[in-house]
Amino acid sequence: IDESVVEDMRKLEEDFKGISQRYRLINRIGEGTFSTVYKAEQLPQPNEINGHDENDEPADESNPDMPPSKRRKTNAGAGRSTKSRRKPQMVALKKIYVTSSPHRILNELELLHELRDSPYICPLLTAFRHLDQVVAVLPYFRHLDFRLYYRDFLVNDMRHYFRSLFNGLWHVHKAGILHRDIKPTNFLYDHSRREGVLVDFGLAERQGTDWQPCLCTESKERRRDKFLNSFAVQVLQTQPDLISTGYPKSDSRTSRRANRAGTRGFRAPEVLLKCTSQTTKIDIWSAGVILLTLLARRFPFFNSADDVDAMIEMASIFGRKKMQAVAAMHGQLFETNIETIGERGFTLDKIIIWASCREKEHDTLRAGEAQAVSFLQGLLELDASKRLSAKEALQHEFFTAPVE
Ligand code: ADP
Ligand code: MG
Repeated sequence: IDESVVEDMRKLEEDFKGISQRYRLINRIGEGTFSTVYKAEQLPQPNEINGHDENDEPADESNPDMPPSKRRKTNAGAGRSTKSRRKPQMVALKKIYVTSSPHRILNELELLHELRDSPYICPLLTAFRHLDQVVAVLPYFRHLDFRLYYRDFLVNDMRHYFRSLFNGLWHVHKAGILHRDIKPTNFLYDHSRREGVLVDFGLAERQGTDWQPCLCTESKERRRDKFLNSFAVQVLQTQPDLISTGYPKSDSRTSRRANRAGTRGFRAPEVLLKCTSQTTKIDIWSAGVILLTLLARRFPFFNSADDVDAMIEMASIFGRKKMQAVAAMHGQLFETNIETIGERGFTLDKIIIWASCREKEHDTLRAGEAQAVSFLQGLLELDASKRLSAKEALQHEFFTAPVE
């Protein structure tokens, strides 16, 4: 273990006396923008072992002098020591950085608590506070780093992965909560058990929290009228040269504020377009990006530094026409003179065949892959209102009538 990690763990144990009494820190397992996560072993507590209290004799089946009624009820055979019989409980200690606002920390803990009933969501066991420091305790979930397996996933593996993921999302969305940061590092997947859990509700929010009417919530007719009367369109009509300067203009210059929390490459089009009435469908898009990554065997699939570039990446796939339509839905303009962005874009089949660099003779998709792509089309739908919900996703034939 790295010296600095050891120092880090020592500091944590020093600050949190309660933690050092209950857990033995083992290693650092995650370090992100908002937290550091450690793996730790839960230490036996005097009054918690198998329901016995501390007044009990040290229970030990190997002790023949002890009456059977006093012996601990375990399935372990006689002669094994107390120590070896107790399977150590592993936990993940998530130390949330003090730079996170108290409001944000409370939000994460509250939402985790509210969502604790689903086996697809990693539950909050408890939390500790020391001054402005907060540590959340979660059961440790065994998983592999996505980068180690995304190239080898078969379509059937994808089915298990996404069945877990969409069950988790269904539970979150039913509660009216947006996760906002769906990506491989926030969905811990255990390939051998074919189970996964959602983690990291640091950016999650209740749907409607910062809701403002957006053009996309209006009827189609009203949307058209409002859009044609908008400032941006009028500017464009009087000064068309504004859009011929060589850089995409996707910004209608209104001073709209919309939540854009999330991770680059996984943001839904409506997030990039500053929609002010975002819904749980933003998580579905991000899940779609994961599926695209697995099918194309490229990670990260989208890799732009900012939102404008992200829109260009999207436009290169979906084409100018569809991007303009979705931008208009949210009251924005999408214009570009980048020559590689075609009018109509490409089908996802084509993108996947190209990205996964197939041999010429195998340049069609197999049946299972074709089914996965049809599912993918429902997830990577630019219009959020037409995008599948988590429940609809689970009813897709990709899960209900799998083909190989
Ligand atoms: P952050 O807000 O810093 O992204 P996360 O909650 O996403 O924090 O955790 C960061 C990383 O720590 C995860 O990607 C994962 O590798 C590891 N991790 C988090 N929770 C657990 C857990 N319950 N079990 C095992 N590993 C975990
Ligand atoms: Mg995370």
